Amino acid sequence: MTELTFVDDEGERVELEAEEARTLMQATDGLDAATVSACPDCRSRVVAVVALVDILHDAPPHDRAADLAALAEDAPTLHLYVVDGSARCDHRAWLDPGHEEWLEAVSPADPAPRHP
Ligand SMILES: [Zn+2]
Repeated sequence: MTELTFVDDEGERVELEAEEARTLMQATDGLDAATVSACPDCRSRVVAVVALVDILHDAPPHDRAADLAALAEDAPTLHLYVVDGSARCDHRAWLDPGHEEWLEAVSPADPAPRHP
């Protein structure tokens, strides 16, 4: 069961299970220092890849840190997109332009086809 998914602009992804997601957020102070824009109601957010690599480097060791750092280092743009799979959230209160960017990046991964 995937709880947090990190996606880059090309759809490459790293998926974290609940326990991995919880320990990662704990170890990184909720990814606060790397967050560019975030939904106020869930953990979905836009993170800066350079800052993410720094945070992972400074954080206590985490099982998935190497996977996340590799995703960040190979990302085609400066941002990664975090999808909170556990949240029943429509991100309605997420109003800044980061939300638009996030939607564009994560929507191709949406299982429902947009053009049936
Ligand atoms: Zn949300």
